Amino acid sequence: MVEKLSQRCKRWGRAALNFIFRPGHQYSYTDASGDMQTGFSEEMVVFYLRSYPEYLNLLETEKELIQKISDKEFPLGQFEGQTNIEGFCIICGHNVDFHVDLQYSFFDRNIRVPNWRERMVCPDCGMSGRTRAIYHFFVAKVRPHRNSLIYITEQVTPLYKELLKHYPNLTGSEFLDSTATNPGFNAKNIRNEDLTRLTFRDKSFHYILSFDCLEHIPDYRQAIREIFRCLKESGIFYFCIPFYPYQQYNTLRAYINDDQQTVHLEPPEYHGNPLSENGSLCYHNFSFQLLEEIRETGFRDVEVVMYWSEKYGYLGGLKALFIAKK
Ligand SMILES: [Zn+2]
Repeated sequence: MVEKLSQRCKRWGRAALNFIFRPGHQYSYTDASGDMQTGFSEEMVVFYLRSYPEYLNLLETEKELIQKISDKEFPLGQFEGQTNIEGFCIICGHNVDFHVDLQYSFFDRNIRVPNWRERMVCPDCGMSGRTRAIYHFFVAKVRPHRNSLIYITEQVTPLYKELLKHYPNLTGSEFLDSTATNPGFNAKNIRNEDLTRLTFRDKSFHYILSFDCLEHIPDYRQAIREIFRCLKESGIFYFCIPFYPYQQYNTLRAYINDDQQTVHLEPPEYHGNPLSENGSLCYHNFSFQLLEEIRETGFRDVEVVMYWSEKYGYLGGLKALFIAKK
Protein backbone atom coordinates (compact mmCIF):
# COMPACT_ATOMS: atom_id res chain seq x y z
CA MET A 1 0.00 0.00 0.00
CA VAL A 2 2.64 2.48 1.08
CA GLU A 3 4.78 1.74 -1.92
CA LYS A 4 1.85 2.23 -4.25
CA LEU A 5 1.12 5.63 -2.73
CA SER A 6 4.68 6.84 -3.11
CA GLN A 7 4.69 5.69 -6.73
CA ARG A 8 1.54 7.62 -7.47
CA CYS A 9 2.84 10.73 -5.75
CA LYS A 10 6.06 10.52 -7.67
CA ARG A 11 4.11 10.33 -10.89
CA TRP A 12 1.59 13.03 -10.00
CA GLY A 13 3.99 15.39 -8.28
CA ARG A 14 4.42 16.23 -4.63
CA ALA A 15 1.38 18.46 -4.66
CA ALA A 16 -0.87 15.50 -5.26
CA LEU A 17 -0.10 14.41 -1.70
CA ASN A 18 -2.63 16.93 -0.49
CA PHE A 19 -5.33 14.98 -2.22
CA ILE A 20 -4.22 11.41 -1.94
CA PHE A 21 -4.69 10.36 1.61
CA ARG A 22 -4.45 6.63 1.13
CA PRO A 23 -5.25 4.57 -1.91
CA GLY A 24 -8.52 2.74 -1.54
CA HIS A 25 -9.56 4.76 1.48
CA GLN A 26 -12.24 7.37 1.65
CA TYR A 27 -11.85 10.81 3.05
CA SER A 28 -14.80 12.44 4.64
CA TYR A 29 -16.06 15.73 5.90
CA THR A 30 -19.16 16.90 7.68
CA ASP A 31 -21.42 19.30 5.85
CA ALA A 32 -23.47 22.08 7.43
CA SER A 33 -26.38 19.79 8.15
CA GLY A 34 -24.12 17.36 9.98
CA ASP A 35 -24.32 14.73 7.26
CA MET A 36 -21.12 12.94 6.48
CA GLN A 37 -20.06 13.38 2.88
CA THR A 38 -17.57 11.03 1.40
CA GLY A 39 -15.64 10.75 -1.81
CA PHE A 40 -12.79 8.75 -3.24
CA SER A 41 -9.64 10.73 -3.69
CA GLU A 42 -7.18 8.34 -5.23
CA GLU A 43 -8.27 8.86 -8.80
CA MET A 44 -7.72 12.57 -9.06
CA VAL A 45 -4.78 14.08 -10.90
CA VAL A 46 -3.82 17.40 -9.30
CA PHE A 47 -0.97 19.81 -9.85
CA TYR A 48 -0.42 23.13 -8.11
CA LEU A 49 1.40 25.71 -10.22
CA ARG A 50 2.47 29.31 -9.75
CA SER A 51 4.06 30.39 -13.01
CA TYR A 52 4.41 29.83 -16.74
CA PRO A 53 7.86 28.19 -16.40
CA GLU A 54 6.34 25.72 -13.93
CA TYR A 55 3.68 24.91 -16.50
CA LEU A 56 6.27 24.34 -19.22
CA ASN A 57 8.13 22.10 -16.83
CA LEU A 58 4.93 20.15 -16.15
CA LEU A 59 4.37 19.60 -19.87
CA GLU A 60 7.89 18.25 -20.13
CA THR A 61 8.02 16.06 -17.04
CA GLU A 62 4.43 14.75 -17.24
CA LYS A 63 4.28 14.12 -20.98
CA GLU A 64 3.26 10.52 -20.47
CA LEU A 65 0.46 11.33 -18.07
CA ILE A 66 -0.89 14.10 -20.31
CA GLN A 67 -0.85 11.73 -23.28
CA LYS A 68 -2.66 9.13 -21.22
CA ILE A 69 -5.38 11.66 -20.39
CA SER A 70 -5.96 12.49 -24.02
CA ASP A 71 -5.91 8.80 -25.01
CA LYS A 72 -8.55 8.14 -22.35
CA GLU A 73 -10.76 11.00 -23.47
CA PHE A 74 -10.63 10.47 -27.21
CA PRO A 75 -12.86 7.35 -27.38
CA LEU A 76 -15.26 8.84 -24.80
CA GLY A 77 -15.85 11.78 -27.15
CA GLN A 78 -16.79 9.61 -30.15
CA PHE A 79 -20.57 9.68 -30.08
CA GLU A 80 -23.49 11.22 -31.96
CA GLY A 81 -26.18 13.33 -30.34
CA GLN A 82 -25.74 12.46 -26.69
CA THR A 83 -24.44 9.73 -24.45
CA ASN A 84 -24.05 8.68 -20.83
CA ILE A 85 -20.76 8.21 -19.00
CA GLU A 86 -20.66 6.65 -15.57
CA GLY A 87 -18.91 8.45 -12.74
CA PHE A 88 -19.15 9.60 -9.14
CA CYS A 89 -20.98 12.85 -8.46
CA ILE A 90 -19.35 14.61 -5.52
CA ILE A 91 -22.52 16.64 -4.92
CA CYS A 92 -24.91 13.68 -4.85
CA GLY A 93 -22.39 11.37 -3.19
CA HIS A 94 -23.08 8.35 -5.40
CA ASN A 95 -22.42 6.93 -8.86
CA VAL A 96 -24.48 8.38 -11.69
CA ASP A 97 -24.61 8.27 -15.48
CA PHE A 98 -23.45 11.74 -16.44
CA HIS A 99 -25.29 13.12 -19.49
CA VAL A 100 -23.03 14.43 -22.21
CA ASP A 101 -24.16 16.17 -25.39
CA LEU A 102 -22.52 18.16 -28.16
CA GLN A 103 -23.73 21.65 -27.32
CA TYR A 104 -20.75 24.07 -27.39
CA SER A 105 -18.56 21.29 -28.83
CA PHE A 106 -15.57 22.40 -30.90
CA PHE A 107 -13.03 21.03 -33.35
CA ASP A 108 -9.45 20.26 -32.44
CA ARG A 109 -7.39 19.21 -35.47
CA ASN A 110 -10.55 18.07 -37.30
CA ILE A 111 -11.75 16.02 -34.36
CA ARG A 112 -14.95 17.10 -32.67
CA VAL A 113 -14.51 17.45 -28.92
CA PRO A 114 -17.47 17.74 -26.53
CA ASN A 115 -17.39 20.68 -24.15
CA TRP A 116 -16.64 18.37 -21.21
CA ARG A 117 -16.36 21.24 -18.78
CA GLU A 118 -19.92 22.49 -19.32
CA ARG A 119 -21.81 19.60 -20.87
CA MET A 120 -21.02 16.60 -18.66
CA VAL A 121 -23.99 17.08 -16.41
CA CYS A 122 -25.19 15.05 -13.43
CA PRO A 123 -28.82 13.97 -14.05
CA ASP A 124 -29.64 14.14 -10.33
CA CYS A 125 -28.23 17.52 -9.22
CA GLY A 126 -27.96 19.15 -12.65
CA MET A 127 -24.40 20.36 -12.06
CA SER A 128 -21.72 20.47 -14.76
CA GLY A 129 -18.19 19.07 -14.44
CA ARG A 130 -16.89 22.59 -13.89
CA THR A 131 -19.28 23.40 -11.04
CA ARG A 132 -18.87 20.00 -9.37
CA ALA A 133 -15.08 20.48 -9.37
CA ILE A 134 -15.44 24.04 -8.02
CA TYR A 135 -17.47 22.70 -5.12
CA HIS A 136 -15.16 19.70 -4.63
CA PHE A 137 -11.98 21.78 -4.30
CA PHE A 138 -13.71 24.44 -2.24
CA VAL A 139 -14.58 21.87 0.39
CA ALA A 140 -11.49 19.66 0.17
CA LYS A 141 -8.74 22.20 -0.56
CA VAL A 142 -9.91 25.73 0.33
CA ARG A 143 -11.67 24.32 3.40
CA PRO A 144 -13.93 27.11 4.62
CA HIS A 145 -15.62 26.94 8.01
CA ARG A 146 -19.38 26.48 7.83
CA ASN A 147 -19.84 29.92 9.39
CA SER A 148 -17.35 31.68 7.11
CA LEU A 149 -18.54 34.89 5.48
CA ILE A 150 -18.61 34.10 1.77
CA TYR A 151 -19.53 36.19 -1.24
CA ILE A 152 -20.13 34.60 -4.66
CA THR A 153 -20.73 36.51 -7.88
CA GLU A 154 -23.74 34.43 -8.88
CA GLN A 155 -27.17 33.89 -7.41
CA VAL A 156 -29.46 32.13 -9.88
CA THR A 157 -27.32 29.02 -10.39
CA PRO A 158 -27.35 25.44 -9.04
CA LEU A 159 -23.90 26.11 -7.53
CA TYR A 160 -25.19 29.04 -5.46
CA LYS A 161 -28.10 26.94 -4.20
CA GLU A 162 -25.81 24.03 -3.33
CA LEU A 163 -23.33 26.23 -1.43
CA LEU A 164 -26.12 27.92 0.49
CA LYS A 165 -27.15 24.53 1.93
CA HIS A 166 -23.73 24.15 3.57
CA TYR A 167 -22.66 27.75 4.20
CA PRO A 168 -25.47 29.84 5.70
CA ASN A 169 -23.45 33.09 5.61
CA LEU A 170 -23.33 33.10 1.83
CA THR A 171 -24.11 36.28 -0.12
CA GLY A 172 -24.79 36.00 -3.84
CA SER A 173 -25.32 38.56 -6.55
CA GLU A 174 -25.70 38.92 -10.30
CA PHE A 175 -24.69 41.74 -12.60
CA LEU A 176 -28.14 43.05 -13.51
CA ASP A 177 -27.52 46.61 -14.55
CA SER A 178 -24.57 48.93 -14.21
CA THR A 179 -26.89 51.91 -13.78
CA ALA A 180 -29.01 50.38 -11.01
CA THR A 181 -28.65 51.76 -7.53
CA ASN A 182 -26.03 49.64 -5.87
CA PRO A 183 -26.93 47.23 -4.39
CA GLY A 184 -30.24 47.07 -6.18
CA PHE A 185 -32.56 44.10 -5.83
CA ASN A 186 -34.87 43.04 -8.63
CA ALA A 187 -38.42 41.74 -8.25
CA LYS A 188 -37.14 38.23 -7.56
CA ASN A 189 -34.89 39.55 -4.79
CA ILE A 190 -31.74 39.02 -6.83
CA ARG A 191 -28.98 41.31 -5.63
CA ASN A 192 -27.22 43.52 -8.18
CA GLU A 193 -23.47 44.10 -7.82
CA ASP A 194 -20.96 45.55 -10.23
CA LEU A 195 -17.62 43.86 -9.50
CA THR A 196 -15.74 47.05 -10.36
CA ARG A 197 -17.57 48.98 -7.62
CA LEU A 198 -18.79 46.58 -4.95
CA THR A 199 -21.06 48.00 -2.28
CA PHE A 200 -19.56 45.96 0.56
CA ARG A 201 -17.42 47.51 3.27
CA ASP A 202 -13.68 46.88 3.40
CA LYS A 203 -12.72 43.44 4.77
CA SER A 204 -16.25 42.05 4.74
CA PHE A 205 -15.57 38.45 3.68
CA HIS A 206 -13.37 35.45 4.42
CA TYR A 207 -13.89 34.14 0.88
CA ILE A 208 -14.88 35.70 -2.40
CA LEU A 209 -15.84 33.32 -5.20
CA SER A 210 -16.17 34.18 -8.86
CA PHE A 211 -16.43 31.68 -11.68
CA ASP A 212 -16.12 32.59 -15.35
CA CYS A 213 -16.79 36.28 -14.67
CA LEU A 214 -13.54 38.22 -14.99
CA GLU A 215 -13.24 37.65 -18.74
CA HIS A 216 -16.50 39.58 -19.21
CA ILE A 217 -15.31 42.67 -17.35
CA PRO A 218 -13.48 45.20 -19.55
CA ASP A 219 -11.55 46.62 -16.54
CA TYR A 220 -10.91 43.33 -14.73
CA ARG A 221 -7.96 44.83 -12.83
CA GLN A 222 -10.39 47.18 -11.07
CA ALA A 223 -12.54 44.15 -10.22
CA ILE A 224 -9.52 42.42 -8.66
CA ARG A 225 -8.75 45.55 -6.60
CA GLU A 226 -12.35 45.60 -5.36
CA ILE A 227 -12.19 41.92 -4.42
CA PHE A 228 -8.95 42.57 -2.53
CA ARG A 229 -10.56 45.47 -0.68
CA CYS A 230 -13.59 43.43 0.38
CA LEU A 231 -11.56 40.45 1.66
CA LYS A 232 -10.50 40.18 5.28
CA GLU A 233 -6.80 39.81 6.06
CA SER A 234 -5.73 36.32 4.94
CA GLY A 235 -8.98 36.04 3.00
CA ILE A 236 -9.12 33.97 -0.14
CA PHE A 237 -10.25 34.80 -3.67
CA TYR A 238 -11.25 31.47 -5.22
CA PHE A 239 -12.08 31.68 -8.90
CA CYS A 240 -11.86 30.30 -12.39
CA ILE A 241 -11.84 31.69 -15.90
CA PRO A 242 -11.41 30.16 -19.33
CA PHE A 243 -7.65 29.69 -19.08
CA TYR A 244 -5.08 29.51 -21.87
CA PRO A 245 -1.99 28.20 -20.07
CA TYR A 246 0.02 27.58 -23.22
CA GLN A 247 0.09 31.35 -23.79
CA GLN A 248 2.31 33.32 -21.47
CA TYR A 249 0.35 36.55 -21.88
CA ASN A 250 -3.30 37.53 -21.85
CA THR A 251 -5.03 38.34 -25.14
CA LEU A 252 -7.26 41.40 -25.38
CA ARG A 253 -10.30 40.41 -27.46
CA ALA A 254 -12.31 43.62 -27.12
CA TYR A 255 -12.38 46.89 -25.18
CA ILE A 256 -14.59 49.91 -24.55
CA ASN A 257 -13.28 53.08 -26.16
CA ASP A 258 -13.59 56.69 -24.94
CA ASP A 259 -16.94 57.01 -26.73
CA GLN A 260 -18.21 54.02 -24.72
CA GLN A 261 -18.28 51.84 -27.81
CA THR A 262 -17.08 48.27 -27.96
CA VAL A 263 -14.08 47.75 -30.20
CA HIS A 264 -13.41 44.17 -31.28
CA LEU A 265 -9.84 43.04 -31.83
CA GLU A 266 -10.79 39.38 -32.25
CA PRO A 267 -14.00 37.77 -33.56
CA PRO A 268 -16.69 38.46 -30.92
CA GLU A 269 -17.14 35.52 -28.56
CA TYR A 270 -20.24 35.28 -26.38
CA HIS A 271 -20.57 32.96 -23.39
CA GLY A 272 -23.76 31.65 -21.81
CA ASN A 273 -25.38 33.94 -19.28
CA PRO A 274 -28.25 32.60 -17.14
CA LEU A 275 -29.88 36.05 -17.18
CA SER A 276 -29.51 36.95 -20.85
CA GLU A 277 -30.35 35.09 -24.03
CA ASN A 278 -27.71 37.09 -25.87
CA GLY A 279 -24.92 35.81 -23.63
CA SER A 280 -21.99 37.90 -22.42
CA LEU A 281 -19.15 39.22 -24.55
CA CYS A 282 -15.73 37.86 -23.67
CA TYR A 283 -13.16 40.71 -23.49
CA HIS A 284 -10.10 38.75 -22.39
CA ASN A 285 -8.37 35.42 -22.85
CA PHE A 286 -6.33 34.93 -19.70
CA SER A 287 -3.04 33.19 -19.15
CA PHE A 288 -0.28 33.22 -16.53
CA GLN A 289 0.00 36.99 -16.87
CA LEU A 290 -3.18 37.18 -14.78
CA LEU A 291 -1.38 35.57 -11.82
CA GLU A 292 1.25 38.31 -11.90
CA GLU A 293 -1.46 40.97 -12.05
CA ILE A 294 -3.18 39.47 -9.04
CA ARG A 295 0.08 39.50 -7.09
CA GLU A 296 0.64 43.14 -8.10
CA THR A 297 -2.77 44.00 -6.63
CA GLY A 298 -1.41 42.97 -3.24
CA PHE A 299 -2.35 39.32 -2.89
CA ARG A 300 0.41 37.42 -1.07
CA ASP A 301 0.17 34.40 -3.27
CA VAL A 302 -1.86 32.87 -6.05
CA GLU A 303 -1.73 29.32 -7.31
CA VAL A 304 -3.38 27.45 -10.13
CA VAL A 305 -4.89 24.09 -9.31
CA MET A 306 -4.78 21.93 -12.44
CA TYR A 307 -6.94 18.85 -12.14
CA TRP A 308 -8.38 15.98 -14.10
CA SER A 309 -10.45 13.03 -13.03
CA GLU A 310 -12.21 10.35 -15.00
CA LYS A 311 -13.88 9.06 -11.87
CA TYR A 312 -15.54 12.35 -10.97
CA GLY A 313 -16.20 13.37 -14.56
CA TYR A 314 -13.77 16.29 -14.67
CA LEU A 315 -12.72 15.83 -18.28
CA GLY A 316 -11.39 18.09 -21.01
CA GLY A 317 -7.67 17.79 -20.27
CA LEU A 318 -6.14 19.46 -17.24
CA LYS A 319 -8.53 22.16 -16.08
CA ALA A 320 -7.70 25.12 -13.85
CA LEU A 321 -9.01 26.65 -10.63
CA PHE A 322 -7.31 29.54 -8.83
CA ILE A 323 -6.67 30.29 -5.18
CA ALA A 324 -5.36 33.76 -4.31
CA LYS A 325 -4.50 34.59 -0.69
CA LYS A 326 -4.65 38.12 0.68
ZN1 LIG B 1 -25.09 15.05 -8.83
